[in-house]
Amino acid sequence: MKIIEDLHIHTRVSKDCKEDPEKYVVAAIRKGIDYLGFSDHLDLDPVDKDFGYYNFDTAYNDYILLNKKYGDKINFLFGVEVTYQSELEESIKEHIENKPYDYIIGSVHRLQGHTVAGVRGKEFFKGKKEETAYRMYFEELYRMVDTDFFQIVGHFDVIKRFGVEFYGKFNAEKYRDIIELILRKMVKKGIVLEINSSGFRQPPKEMYPSKEILSMYASFGGREIIIGSDAHTIEQFGKGLRKAINIAKEIYDFDIVTFIKREKLNLGKLSSLKPATDEIQNNFELTLEK
Ligand SMILES: [Zn+2]
Ligand SMILES: [Zn+2]
Repeated sequence: MKIIEDLHIHTRVSKDCKEDPEKYVVAAIRKGIDYLGFSDHLDLDPVDKDFGYYNFDTAYNDYILLNKKYGDKINFLFGVEVTYQSELEESIKEHIENKPYDYIIGSVHRLQGHTVAGVRGKEFFKGKKEETAYRMYFEELYRMVDTDFFQIVGHFDVIKRFGVEFYGKFNAEKYRDIIELILRKMVKKGIVLEINSSGFRQPPKEMYPSKEILSMYASFGGREIIIGSDAHTIEQFGKGLRKAINIAKEIYDFDIVTFIKREKLNLGKLSSLKPATDEIQNNFELTLEK
């Protein structure tokens, strides 16, 4: 099956990534990906160790230069992944307004001054009951989709990344009430759910969001998804996407969308994804997923 897009990619503009952006573009063209988007981290909490690392000019320059060089071979997009914190809404607004982003992914990475999704993410869970930790996350996610800042919700249930190490397998049913509120609001506002394959390579060993959440999304009228591997290295690029797409397809024949200058573009249904046309695309994950 053809991998039509990967909109969640990190480059050396993100603090937790050293990858040369050009490598992704070259690999994406080789693999026949139609839409490739960079989405580096923008972190705005002054007490966050990653604060101040993102440089808009560097990110945009990389994009412009690579688009000039390869733009006739691939649809290349300029996105950003913003760490949402409800107390920082003013600052977030200021940083994304009037910027030429094609799309903005909103992600909850931090709670109570702790990172909950990054490499140092375990501290937050210590001494907390499962219910307390997970509810705190989903309540923040609700506040996030209540703003008008974002086109996409990144890794919807990433709180399970380290949560599973403290509380065992994540059970979305326990939080159905708040998850339903978030998903319904997304559907109403046209905010798109991301199918993020990074969870396969992290402790949960399942994608973000879980099948249960994806089913809820469909049952509340959610029809649109975007696809991202959340790669922080070229080796992770595209990893797990085919598996994620196959799982999603069993739940509902979702529409894959993308964004150009924050305008939504429908790329077709999951079932319309054509079989891979060449050997390289066929071996997409075989070559990358070693
Ligand atoms: Zn993230
Ligand atoms: Zn990311």
